[in-house]
Amino acid sequence: MLAADFARLADEAAAVAGVADWLHIDVMDGHFVPNLTIGLPVVSALLKHAALPLDCHLMIADPDRWAPEYAAAGARNVTIHAEAAAAPVRTLRMIRSAGARAGLAVNPGTPIEPYADLLGELDMLLVMTVEPGFGGQGFLDLVLPKVRRAREMVARHGGEIWLQVDGGVTQETIGRCAEAGADVFVAGTAVFGAQDPAAAVERLKAAAEVAAGGQSGAPSG
Ligand code: ZN
Repeated sequence: MLAADFARLADEAAAVAGVADWLHIDVMDGHFVPNLTIGLPVVSALLKHAALPLDCHLMIADPDRWAPEYAAAGARNVTIHAEAAAAPVRTLRMIRSAGARAGLAVNPGTPIEPYADLLGELDMLLVMTVEPGFGGQGFLDLVLPKVRRAREMVARHGGEIWLQVDGGVTQETIGRCAEAGADVFVAGTAVFGAQDPAAAVERLKAAAEVAAGGQSGAPSG
């Protein structure tokens, strides 16, 4: 929703309600990332009006303090950043015990291997494909080898863990993400910058499915 019109969030959410699987909410605090977006009060308001589950991506300095509150408010997924969490295992467990799915995100320069032992605590691993903080950035192909390693790591672990990519995902780049093993795709500008956001989601899903060889993905706006 980072690329949506923030003054019309409920309308923008409704525009993709029939086609996107989740609404991806980028929470930024002006500390972990320089940008400031929306926080818990707006997420709580949107939860009352949005038909789709909310996928909350917390780009904040103190996820240990705040993540469980997003879960308790009703977010379907709550993702914290590995670089920001002081006690990721405890926080991931608190997210799950509050009734949400727990996600762990890594920035482009952060390796995933140190988190292999945490996979049992996760429902989703988010590999950032831009440096977090702003929408509309160009996709970083240099992250694709890490997406492949993440897919192998998840396959070795064996549990059901989604592999999400976020940043610069467009009609042109989504196929490379799917081919590398991602199965959840966050698209902002590619959806809300389009004339018809719902049609844009359909086209993105189709491109991902072709690249993944017919497996279905879960794009979110
Ligand atoms: Zn995000």
